[in-house]
Amino acid sequence: MNFILQVFRLLSGGMTLYKTKAIILRTRKFGEADRIITLFSPNCGKIKAIAKGIRKTKSKFGARLEPFSYVNLLLYKGKNLDIITQVETIDSFQKIREDLKKLSAGSVVLDLLEKVSLESESNYPLFELSLSFFEKISSSIEGLEFLLMGFEIKSLALLGYQPILTHCSFCQINLNKDKKWFSFSRGGVLCDNCAKDIDDAILLTISDFLLKLLNSNWEEISQFKAKREIVIELLKFLEDYFYYYLQLKLKSKAWWNQVLKII
Ligand SMILES: [Zn+2]
Repeated sequence: MNFILQVFRLLSGGMTLYKTKAIILRTRKFGEADRIITLFSPNCGKIKAIAKGIRKTKSKFGARLEPFSYVNLLLYKGKNLDIITQVETIDSFQKIREDLKKLSAGSVVLDLLEKVSLESESNYPLFELSLSFFEKISSSIEGLEFLLMGFEIKSLALLGYQPILTHCSFCQINLNKDKKWFSFSRGGVLCDNCAKDIDDAILLTISDFLLKLLNSNWEEISQFKAKREIVIELLKFLEDYFYYYLQLKLKSKAWWNQVLKII
């Protein structure tokens, strides 16, 4: 235990007090006046903590513990749930909550983070990606559907499930064609020859687009344009990919599809 923690421990009568930054993923009512808050922290991964008395009108927490908020926290380490003692807002991302389209896209990200993040396992790159995504959509509405698809493919890469898109995932030869075979079981594209021997090979027209999403920054992605059928193929592919590798089917995604009026 480091010195700071020892001091905290001494001051708090044996209970360990710790500080962390976090994004608030979800909150739910608990007991008479409390809430259980699910947080995503850069250094501690997913945290479940209790905010006591938060539903009372004069709660010291006010409205600082709402989904999307990026906060500085002081918590006691608990046996099952940690206890939030202080909150300071870094960015409330209020603009995301005020716009239906942003709220829906942002909810997919919160939902995804809750499902893929693990307690006590940090994923700093995923935290940074999420924060920069919220900053981007908070300030602009342009290209929201591409930004969300960009987040999805980039987060898959950070979780260790990046699809192979530049060369055959079986024989390794470079592939430059627009249309490529793709196999979920191989996790990548295939040349015509290898595709004959792989049972789940499907023809994909969007592998170059996926590669562009992976390699571009938010500013570039927000300027992307594509035909409706390409957008539909991308949405469908990412949904199938998440389901194949992470068994994820997100409720928030159904809402997002309705908002886009596309599927
Ligand atoms: Zn091949």
